[in-house]
Formats: sequence, C-alpha cells, structure tokens
Amino acid sequence: MAFEGLADRLQSTMQKIRGKGKVTEADVKAMMREVRLALLYADVNLKVVKDFIKKVSERAVGQEVMRSLTPGQQVIKVVKEELTALMGGEQSKIAVSPKPPTVIMMVGLQGAGKTTTTGKLANHLRKKHNRNPLLVAADIYRPAAIKQLQTLGKQINMPVFTLGDKVNPVDIAKKAVEQARTDHHDYVLIDTAGRLHIDGELMDELKNIKDAVKPDEIFLVVDAMTGQDAVNVAKSFNEQLGITGVILTKLDGDTRGGAALSIRAVTEKPIKFVGLGEKLDQLEPFHPERMASRILGMGDVLTLIEKAQASVDEEKAKELEKKMRTMSFTLDDFLEQLSQVRNMGPLDELLKMLPGAGKMKGLNNIHIDEKQIRHVEAIIQSMTTEEKQKPEIINASRKRRIAKGSGRPIQEVNRLLKQFEEMKKMMKQMTNMQKKGKKRGALK
Ligand code: GDP
Repeated sequence: MAFEGLADRLQSTMQKIRGKGKVTEADVKAMMREVRLALLYADVNLKVVKDFIKKVSERAVGQEVMRSLTPGQQVIKVVKEELTALMGGEQSKIAVSPKPPTVIMMVGLQGAGKTTTTGKLANHLRKKHNRNPLLVAADIYRPAAIKQLQTLGKQINMPVFTLGDKVNPVDIAKKAVEQARTDHHDYVLIDTAGRLHIDGELMDELKNIKDAVKPDEIFLVVDAMTGQDAVNVAKSFNEQLGITGVILTKLDGDTRGGAALSIRAVTEKPIKFVGLGEKLDQLEPFHPERMASRILGMGDVLTLIEKAQASVDEEKAKELEKKMRTMSFTLDDFLEQLSQVRNMGPLDELLKMLPGAGKMKGLNNIHIDEKQIRHVEAIIQSMTTEEKQKPEIINASRKRRIAKGSGRPIQEVNRLLKQFEEMKKMMKQMTNMQKKGKKRGALK
C-alpha cells in the first residue's frame, strides 16, 4: 500500500505529542520540523509543504489548542483536519447532467492507465449507481487502444462505440454522443488519445473534442507512482485544457504519496477516484478524510464497513443466522462465507484499515496466506452434496477420494473436518447460552 513511509513517520511524530498535558511552542516547532521532513520525504510539493506547515503551526499554538484540556490530542486533530483540507476536504462527486447523457472525457499520458480506468469507471457507474454508460474509443493512434477498450467492454458486458482508426476523433466523439442519446445511455465515457509527453498537437485535439461535445467532466488520469511528475502533468493539463478532476492510478504500488497530497493544492482540482490495482473493480472514490485518517493511523473503518456491506448479501446473512440457530449450517454455507470474505479484497489490506494497525509493527510482516483459503475451498468443492450436508458420513475411503480430487494431503481434509466439527460445537454452545439468557429474561 502507498503512503507507508509517510504514515510511519507521521505516526511516530504524533506519538510523541499525543499524551502531553502541556504543549509549548517549542514542542510544536520540533514536531513541525519532523512533519516537514516526512512530507518532503514523501515527495510532496515544496510549496504545498510550506503552506501546510504554516497553517498547522498557527493553529497549533493558537487558543483552541493551548487552552484545551488535552492539547496533545488537539494538535493531532489539527494535523488531521489540515491534511484532509489539503486533499480537498469533502469527497468530490461525479457530475450528473440535467440533460442526459452526462459526457465524461478521459484524458492523460500514455501508460497512466487511462483506458483501464475508463473501463473501471463504467463498471463503477453501473454497479454503484445503476447507470448505463457508453464507452467510446477515440484513441485512433495507439495501435491496440481500440481493441483494448473493446476487450474491457466485453469483460463488463458494455457496448463500445468505435468508428475505427480512420475517422477524426472529434467526429467520433460527436457521433458517439448522438448515438448515446438515441440508445438512451445516461453516461458517455470518451477514451481519448494519450502521448508520451504533453505536446501541442495532442492538446489541440483534446480542445477540439471539448469544444465539440461540451463534456460535463474532464478527468485527467495520472500515475501516482510518478510523484511530482504527475503533479506537473496535472498542472499543464489544467492550464491548457481545463480539467474538472483527477483520477490517481496505481496507488496500490509503492508510491510515497506525494502526488495524492499535492495535486489538489497545486491544481485546485479534486481527486475524484483512486486506482488500487489492475482489476476492473479496483477503483474507489477518493475520500480525503478517510485517507488522512489512514495516514495518521486512525484507521479507515468506514471503508471497511462499506466493503463488508458491498460483499455481504443481506438476505444470505439472515439465512445464515437462521441456519446457525437451527444447527443446519453445512460445509456449503461455510464455503459461501469464505467466498464473501474473499470478495472484500486481500485480507492483509483489510487488516491495515483497522485503527492503530500501523503501530502493530508485526502487521506489515503478516502475510495472510490466501492460498490456504483456496485449499480449503478446493477440499470442500471436491465433496459430494451429501458429504457437504452430512460430513459425518465421510469415512476413510471418502477422505482419500476428496484428498485426491482437491490435490491436498489427507491430513488437511482431516483438519478441515475437525475444525468444522468444533465450529458447530461452538455454535451450539452459543445458541444454548442465548436460549438460557432469554429464559432468564422472561422470569424477571
Ligand atoms: P493508457 O495508456 O493510459 O490507456 O494505460 P492503460 O490503461 O493501458 O494502463 C497501463 C498499465 O497500467 C496497464 O498494465 C494497466 O493494467 C495498469 N494499471 C492501470 N491502473 C492501475 C492501477 O490502479 N494499479 C495498477 N497496479 N496498475 C494499473
């Protein structure tokens, strides 16, 4: 995950001031020196760092902190608020045109992740907002760009508008919007051409598309790994074309975080989304406050809850609860639960969203072995329906067959069955305790 170095440094600085009952100006100065270094080390733009330090210092030695009963905590609160403000304050939503379709132009340099992100955004609009976008292939220069978008379209089962690579991109964009109107698409996402560097020709083409289709949003896709280069690219695109927001990709990589912290301040345009992987569902709305919270080790419980809600089907959860109560929980249900947990994302990433997780030094070294979960899944999948419902019928020869079918040693099959048996025992005890509790309650 990105920001690890910055998070470590800031958290150890905050640790020193947290419990202080009295905070002097000298304390604040010393702390600010460390914060400044941490930000610079994270490749945050120099001017942005200076302004940030100035704001936090002024507030930290001000009345609101000095007079409070917990000045140490107050200083941290100030840092968090200013960090949130630096990244844009509120979450910035996507425009909705009063006269559909809403037109979004996707722009950016080659390799930033523009085409992938166009697919991710379409997927997000449909899954989270129930929209029906049309993807438009307007990059006629990069040989594989049209094909790439068509492949993405197929993966998410969405139409891709293309007129091949012989038609002018401005005409493609115009025709696509007309087509979207006829076919009742509520969003149009135009994947425009990228270049290795910003050049006049590219900007002219983008300006012409902009004039022709009057987009509601122009999203610049930039690669977070490129640090201050990403910030400079954002500045140029904004000055020359005018953008409405930024999508920061590859935040799953080992980026120091400088781009995420500087872009808003330098361009005054919000970060709308962040890309957290190559897969089509790895795009998340950017929440400045949650990000600040994560950087300062206060966890990101809200995102965790949202992930859980998105991957757990409420009906299924109710059904499961009933099965547990009536003791009809089978290995099939167990399998279902495992897959729901896995849908939430890599387990070690999830753990890091817990408050204080950054301070648990061992956590970075914990590698949750997802392979083991897959092995358990393979074992269960090699059982017959009857075996999954009544594991007690699994005798030695059945065990051998299951082990062979799943490619796992027989000891693992034994271990799984034993664990499942114990889990059921525990459920029984819990259910009994609940029943007793209820009876006692009724006596009162
Ligand atoms: P384009 O030239 O800007 O259209 O870039 P592409 O969409 O072809 O992406 C370039 C590469 O970056 C591809 O290999 C993508 O899979 C990868 N990529 C895009 N977004 C992300 C992201 O958020 N995380 C990671 N790890 N890779 C990404």
